[in-house]
Order: sequence, then C-alpha cells, then structure tokens
Amino acid sequence: MIAPKFDNSYARLPDRFYTKLNPSPVAAPALITLNDDLADQMGLDAEWLRSDAGLAMLAGNAMPDGADPLAQVYAGHQFGGWSPQLGDGRANVLGEVVGPDGARWDIQLKGSGPTPYSRMGDGRAGLGPVMREYIVSEAMHAFGVPTTRALAAVSTGERVQRETGLPGAILTRVARSHIRVGTFQYFAARQDEEAVEILLNHAIARHYPHLDQGDTLGFLNAVIEAQAELVAKWMGLGFIHGVMNTDNTHVGGLTIDYGPCAFMDAYHPATVFSSIDQQGRYVYQGQPEILVWNLAQLATSLLPLIDADRDEAISAAKEALGTFGDFYTVAWKRIFFAKIGYSVGGDAQVAQVQDLLTRMANNQADFTRVFRAMARGRAARDEFVDPTSFDEWETEWGGGDAALMRAANPAIIPRNHRVEEAIQAGMQGDYAPFLRLNAALALPYEDRAEFADLETAPTEQQMVRQTFC
Ligand code: AMP
Ligand code: MG
Ligand code: MG
Repeated sequence: MIAPKFDNSYARLPDRFYTKLNPSPVAAPALITLNDDLADQMGLDAEWLRSDAGLAMLAGNAMPDGADPLAQVYAGHQFGGWSPQLGDGRANVLGEVVGPDGARWDIQLKGSGPTPYSRMGDGRAGLGPVMREYIVSEAMHAFGVPTTRALAAVSTGERVQRETGLPGAILTRVARSHIRVGTFQYFAARQDEEAVEILLNHAIARHYPHLDQGDTLGFLNAVIEAQAELVAKWMGLGFIHGVMNTDNTHVGGLTIDYGPCAFMDAYHPATVFSSIDQQGRYVYQGQPEILVWNLAQLATSLLPLIDADRDEAISAAKEALGTFGDFYTVAWKRIFFAKIGYSVGGDAQVAQVQDLLTRMANNQADFTRVFRAMARGRAARDEFVDPTSFDEWETEWGGGDAALMRAANPAIIPRNHRVEEAIQAGMQGDYAPFLRLNAALALPYEDRAEFADLETAPTEQQMVRQTFC
C-alpha cells in the first residue's frame, strides 16, 4: 500500500495566503464511501485510503508524511454585501498530489474543525450536506460539467448542533484548486498588489497553463469564457446553484460550494429553492447576469495589474466583460439546440427553443422528462397540463437527431426528493439508497431499467420546495 505523495504548491505561497493548521480529530470515524474511479484518476492507492492510516487522513485524525494542512483565506460579496474576510471556516487543504496524467489536485477536508476563519461557526458539517455535495458534485461530473469532485465521505461519530442535533460527517473534496473570485478580492481590498500578482500567476499555472505568467487580461478573458460555458451548462440541466456569492465563484470555471443547490423538476424560470435566498437573488434565470456581476468583481480586483493607468485598465476590463454575452450565447445555443436535436441553428431555432420553454413553464412540464422523452421518441406531451400545447410545438419542430438528444438530455438527475430520501436513510445508518443513487447518476445518459424509478417526477407529497445548507 502506498500513501499519497504530496507536493504542496499553495503552501509555498507567502504566509498571508493561509493559516497552517491541522484538522481537529473526531471521535469515531467510519468510511461511508470512497470514490475508487477518482482515486485511480488521481494516482491514489484506494487500498491505502481504506486502511487505518487512510481513514485517519480522511477523518483529519492523523496526517501522512508530506501533508501540510492549511486553511485558505479569502473575502467575498455574499448576497451582494461585502465581507472583507472569509476563508475556509470548516475546511483544510491537506496538500496537493499530481496524478498520472500530470494534473494537480488539492485534497481538502470539508467539516474538519474550526479555523481562524470560522467566525461564529463550529467548523463542522452535518451528514446531510456532506451526502448532498457528494451526490450532486459527482452527478455534475457525470453530466460533463466542470466541478469540484468528491473523493470520500466519512461519518465522525460526533453530533453537530444545527436547529437540531445531527450526525457529523466530513467530505473529502478534490479540485484543481480552490481559488475563488473572493481570493483575489481579499488581497485587492488590502491593496496588496504583490499578492494579487502572485495569486494570478499561481492561478494561471493551475488552470490556464497556455497563458504566459503575468498575462492579466488573458487570464480575465479565460475566466470569463470558462464561467460563461459553465453557467450555460447549468441552465441546460435546470441546475440552480443557490449561493452564487463571489467566494463561491471559482476562477477555474468549476462549480464549487454545493449548499442549498437543486435541480428543477417542473420548469419555471423564476425557480428558487434556497431557504437563505429570500430576495431570489440567485433565481434560475438570473444566474448568467449574477455571474457577470461576480466577474466584474474579479476584473476590479485585477485593475492595477491590467494597466497602471486606471482609466485604461477600466476600459480594457469593460471590453473583456462585454465578451461574456457572446460566449454565453454561443454555449447556450449549442446546449439548447442539442436538447431539441439540432447541431446548428439561427434566430428561428432560438425562438423555437424559447417557445418550448414558455409552453413548459405554462404547463408545469418536468424539465428533464420532457427532453428525455423527445430523445426517446416518446410522448413528451404527457408531461404538459395541456398536452396540445406540446403538440402544436411538435408540429413546428418535426423532430431532431436522436443521438444528439440522448447525449444532451439526461434520463436521471439528482432530484431533490431522491437526495432527501437518501439523506434520511443515511441518518438512520442505511447508506444503500445513497450508494444506489450515486450508481445511477454515474451514467445519467443511459437508459437502465433497474433505475427507472429514479426518473419519475415527485408526487405532490414528495415535492421538495425549499433546500437548506
Ligand atoms: P458557504 O456558504 O459554504 O460558501 O460558506 C460561507 C463561509 O462560511 C465560508 O467562509 C465557510 O468556511 C464558512 N462556514 C460555513 N459553515 C461553517 C461552519 N459550520 N463553521 C465555520 N465556518 C463555516
Ligand atoms: Mg463558500
Ligand atoms: Mg464553504
């Protein structure tokens, strides 16, 4: 058995980027699940991860040689309000490993105990949120959406106090980095230009190695393009992140920080699930616009590096931000055209997609089931309160490429009621529904009869209308 070999590039950055500290040990750790495929991809020895030493690492109880745990500092706009200091309040990056393909991965424990950035929090995570992040982040990966990954989930044998006492757990989250728009904002707000430049070069090396070091505008453009692509993919799946704060916006264009996120059942553009989003700031249809706002905060943080002349810098940043709409529109068309089986299209096809979406919204049609039924050549009309509304649209449509539609329209998504059901069973110590849901979601574009029950929309009674983090 081989322990991970660490090479910790973030820990070599200056002290003001983090606080070095070990995770806080837990009472009675037990492995809930280990992601063997991901361990392989990372070049980790799954057998070692399952050993006592491996479990001790995944629980934060003992660190293998070479780990150099730290909590990262960052800042951010939360629901539009500025927080000058946030940071990993319940997470430690243990270190980085380099996979056989040369890709570098952060190994982070989430729920690993208090840090100097915990503010009022306890530094811990409940079993429910850990299970939700595991399910949804791995599903996103299977959908082909860039995301942080889940390597393992461990129960701690301790309780965490929320509204009620809950079983505690720790997620091992892995990603190419954990650098957020808010990480740039933290240093920019302190006018620490040197740190912004160090961070820029680190982020370029991690995420955009084709760019030259110091290419600030190149970096800004690359983040804008990656994030436009990302949010278009969310829209194509009916995904609502729920907390698109700038500290939850990743500069590598990954989905990060799964809290009260959710996939829509019935399509409606004004859908909000998050219990903490009372103004509906992060509503489904508003996500692209919010992203532009977040990217403007990144651009603002980079201004001094873009040009010594502030006016010049502002006009260059505005020009860069102005390209978001084109990137987004191109991605949106590719994704939504594929959903109706078109490989190309123009304004008439955009209108056709929009007409379908309007009919779906007016008929409480299930987003996932309508498109999958079309891919299968089956009765999508049954998903509409008034089926003739679909019939009218279908006459105009006349059909599309089935293979394209099958690859664009998943059969199975992590529906809220199924995630909730898996969590409730897990709370009783039964992880079978969780493991089964993960197995189904690993191949979401396949028709597999044994998982057909997971395709059904919730009944009125099963419907989850609000999500919590
Ligand atoms: P999130 O909503 O998960 O993006 O978290 C926002 C901020 O609150 C981050 O800085 C987290 O580290 C911090 N935070 C969230 N939950 C806790 C907790 N239980 N204890 C300490 N800090 C937390
Ligand atoms: Mg966060
Ligand atoms: Mg967090």
